[in-house]
Amino acid sequence: MALKPGVVSGKEYVELVEACKEGGYALAAVNCIGTDSVNAVMEAAARNNSDVIIQFSNGGAQFYAGQGMEDGFQAKVLGAVSAAQHVHLLAEHYGICAVLHTDHANRKLVPWVDALVDHSEAYYEAHGRPLYSSHMLDLSEESIDDNLTECARMLERMAKLDMSLEIELGITGGEEDGVGHDIEEGADSSHLYTQPEDVLKAYDLLTPLGHFSVAASFGNVHGVYKPGNVQLRPEILKNSQALVNEVHNVGEKALNLVFHGGSGSEKDKIAEAISYGVFKMNIDTDTQFAFANGVGKYVEEHMKAFIHQIDPDDGTPYKKYYDPRKWLRAGEQSFVARLDEAFKDLGSVGRTLAK
Ligand SMILES: [Zn+2]
Repeated sequence: MALKPGVVSGKEYVELVEACKEGGYALAAVNCIGTDSVNAVMEAAARNNSDVIIQFSNGGAQFYAGQGMEDGFQAKVLGAVSAAQHVHLLAEHYGICAVLHTDHANRKLVPWVDALVDHSEAYYEAHGRPLYSSHMLDLSEESIDDNLTECARMLERMAKLDMSLEIELGITGGEEDGVGHDIEEGADSSHLYTQPEDVLKAYDLLTPLGHFSVAASFGNVHGVYKPGNVQLRPEILKNSQALVNEVHNVGEKALNLVFHGGSGSEKDKIAEAISYGVFKMNIDTDTQFAFANGVGKYVEEHMKAFIHQIDPDDGTPYKKYYDPRKWLRAGEQSFVARLDEAFKDLGSVGRTLAK
């Protein structure tokens, strides 16, 4: 199977998801906040011959537009549009397939997603494809029926534009950009594990409407915390697939599953989750740290250049050290190196469908 390099959506996106599940690998879905992180993701994908998912949280999109923009809602919408246009222009030149996606949107952020779908409508009219490949709705705080009713409404809108919807069932622990849940030590953690019956309910309702994926909770947590609070139980994913197959006879991996909170997870649990049909693993915390770590090391090594333009003792000019291209590049390189590791863990190295 070969796809044109660049942003994929619709049938091409479905092909990419199926290739992952059939080939037993997953795509890294990397949270980005600006051109530095977006370009680092494309660089890492290109040098690993891996396809990749570039995603923006509402805060990441806002940062892309600029923290100084007065209207925060407008910044969240326009930042996401601007970021997508950047990727549409450049991804094909990196020679890989890129999926454009937005991360968690709870009830408060549904208008953000609707506004982005409006932009995809206009883009579709002009270019015959949507601006974003997919969006996520995370209404996991609500009852299963309220959650799915809203997801169905959104998917009906998006399917007309060849877009896919990611939904969340059960609760991913921790917090991602103000959307999420604190983990209480010793508290009842049953809500951190998705019920296969709920997944079946989603499958029944959404399958006739369009393409969708499920972020199911199996003890996964956003961020990197002290281990031992919750246990990863990937067999929940297996049980969900089995229930759907038992009822509909659609094969062992009919569901498109998403692994949130992948940072800091045990490698064997990642491999197990992929074997049950996970095609996408989100990574944010570990790449955030990698970027900061790269910059931090650079600053430490060239401390004087961050305090003096010219050395007060011997007059050495420091321009070539404080040039932001130098220290931002150090952050990018560290970010790329962390993604080399992620692609390896996910088995996507050398698997690009781009030809
Ligand atoms: Zn998440």
